[in-house]
Amino acid sequence: MESTFESNGFKVHIITEGLREREDKLIFQAAQLMVNVIGDPAFKVFCENYKYEVIKTGAEVLNGKVDNEADINLNVDRSFGRKCIGYTYKSSAWQYICQWVMNSWGPEDIASNLAHEWCHKMSYKHEYKRTSRRQYSVPYAVGDYVEYVCKKKLLKKKL
Ligand SMILES: [Zn+2]
Repeated sequence: MESTFESNGFKVHIITEGLREREDKLIFQAAQLMVNVIGDPAFKVFCENYKYEVIKTGAEVLNGKVDNEADINLNVDRSFGRKCIGYTYKSSAWQYICQWVMNSWGPEDIASNLAHEWCHKMSYKHEYKRTSRRQYSVPYAVGDYVEYVCKKKLLKKKL
């Protein structure tokens, strides 16, 4: 499946392969949340230290196009018992979310992971170990911010 979401000139273009209907729905909900957060002017303010000018270009290392668009190719890893959330490889345009995550997480957390893995596509790295510095890496900072904003909005809706 394929879809594009837009907010204030920033886009998320997402392609999925082999997902179940429920999973596609969840991913597209998450992509909508991600574009809402990254397209919002508040993201620019947050980004002061996290290279906003680079992020908004949407120029992934592998395709290099400055298109103001996050190009996300997403697949679900269905290997049994895999202890991961999501991952990606430098050499591939695809990013993966593990099956158990798709079964138990809501769109806000999935949006956070989409953004995190996409930051890797934009060349940003972090330490593998859980160090105190890791949360300040671009993938964690952006992913955590997306989650924070989505959940804050959710909370407001419930009040
Ligand atoms: Zn990562």
